[in-house]
Amino acid sequence: MTDARIYLSPPDVSDLERKLLLNAFDSNWVAPVGPDLDAFEEQAAALVGVRHAVALSSGTAALHLALIAAGVRRGDTVLVPSFTFAATANAVLYLGARPVFVDSTPDSWNVDPELIAEELRARAERGQLPRAVIAVDMYGQCADYEPLLTACDRYGVPLIEDAAEALGATYRGRPAGAFGLAGVLSFNGNKIITTGGGGMLVTDDGRVATQARHLSTQAREPVPHYEHRTVGYNYRLSNLLAAVGRGQLQRLPQMIAARRETFRFYQRELPDLEFMPIAAYGEPNYWLTCVLTDQRDEIIAELARHDIEARPAWKPMHLQPVFRDCVMRGGHVSADLFRRGLCLPSGSALTGRDRERVVTAVRTAQQRG
Ligand SMILES: *Cc1c(COP(=O)(O)O)cnc(C)c1O
Repeated sequence: MTDARIYLSPPDVSDLERKLLLNAFDSNWVAPVGPDLDAFEEQAAALVGVRHAVALSSGTAALHLALIAAGVRRGDTVLVPSFTFAATANAVLYLGARPVFVDSTPDSWNVDPELIAEELRARAERGQLPRAVIAVDMYGQCADYEPLLTACDRYGVPLIEDAAEALGATYRGRPAGAFGLAGVLSFNGNKIITTGGGGMLVTDDGRVATQARHLSTQAREPVPHYEHRTVGYNYRLSNLLAAVGRGQLQRLPQMIAARRETFRFYQRELPDLEFMPIAAYGEPNYWLTCVLTDQRDEIIAELARHDIEARPAWKPMHLQPVFRDCVMRGGHVSADLFRRGLCLPSGSALTGRDRERVVTAVRTAQQRG
C-alpha cells in the first residue's frame, strides 16, 4: 500500500464538528442567522478577549468591513505589509484606496515597526497621512504591536490587525486579534481552524461591531419594509458553518499543540534549515512551519516526488503584477523571504509517520546538494 498524499495544511475535523453540524441542520437554522452563529461569536470574542465578534463569509470580507470602519475611502492610502497574502491588499483596492507597501523585519518576518513609524512621520510632514495601517500576524506569529500602536497613536491613524493566520497566538500575553481598532480572523480550509470557509471581525468598539453587522446584512434599516440608506453587502456566515466553527474552537488548544510539536520536530531533525525566528514578545500558534533555504525549489520538487505538498513563502505584494504601480518602502527583506522561504506540511492531523516522511525527503534533497 502506498502512503497517502501529505497536504500543507488540510482541514482537521472530528466527530464533534460533525455532530454539531447535524444538530444545526436538524434544528432548521439553515440560514445566515441562528443560535450556533450567536454561540460561535460569543466563544470567539471570549477567546480573543474582546467584547464583540461578527461572523462573516470570509476573512477578506472582515478586512473590507474593518477598512470601512477605519473610514477608508476612494483615493486614500493604507500602509500594508508587502509580505502577506494578496487578500490583505485586495481589500484596500475594493474601496478604491491605494496600498503603500512596507517591508518586513528579518526578526519575525512581520512588518518592520521602524519603517511604519518612519513612513508615518514622513507622510505627516507632507500632510499625507494614510487613513489606516494594517499589520499582519505572519504564519501565526504576532506583529510587534507596542511600537506599531505607539506610532499609529502619535498620528491618530487607526490600526487593523489581520490575524487571519494567528488565532490562538499571543503578544505579551494578549491574544491575537485584540490589537487596534479591529481584528480579522479567517476560517478558510487551510487555516488553524476552519468552517470550510468563513471569517470574523473582532473588536472592543461597539460602534465598529454594529456597523459591520449592519453592512454584512445588506444594510437593511430596522423598519418593517426594505429601507436602505447606504450600500450593503451579503457577508454573513451561515449558521451551519458556525456550528462547525464551535467544535473547531473547542479543539483549538490541541491543534496548536500538534502544530507546535511539528515545528519542534522539524527544527530538531533538520538543523541545517533556517527556521522563522520566534520573537521573545509572544507565543505563535505555529500555523505553518516555514524555513529559509537556498535549496527551496529542489526541496519542493523532491517532496512532490514523494506526494508531499510544500509551497514557497508568500510572494511579496510589491513584486506582484497587479500591484506594480504601488509605492514600496524597503523591499529586500521580503524579496529574500520569498526567494528562500519554504512552508513545510504543518497540519494538526499530521502523524509521526507523516513527519518522518517529510524529514526523509528534505534530507534527500539536501544531500543531493
Ligand atoms: C487567509 C488570509 C486572509 C483571507 O482570509 P479568507 O478567509 O480566505 O478570505 C487574509 N489575510 C491573510 C494574511 C490570510 O492568510
